Amino acid sequence: MRRGACKWYQVCPIKFYCEQGRLDRKWLDEYCLGEWQKCTRYWMEERGEPHPDYMLPNGELRGELK
Ligand code: SF4
Repeated sequence: MRRGACKWYQVCPIKFYCEQGRLDRKWLDEYCLGEWQKCTRYWMEERGEPHPDYMLPNGELRGELK
């Protein structure tokens, strides 16, 4: 299901990491510009639950991105 980009796309650290070449752009295609409904970060943000910038859309923590 595609309904445009995630509402947090412009401010999400995942976008910045990809633009900096520190993360594969597949994350943007698969989640942010694709199925953002399955993004762990999206729902944690929605619920007001704290989560680190270095947590990937699938919930995996990437400490090296700190
Ligand atoms: S990582 Fe998740 S919350 Fe961030 S822009 Fe992509 S889909 Fe939205």
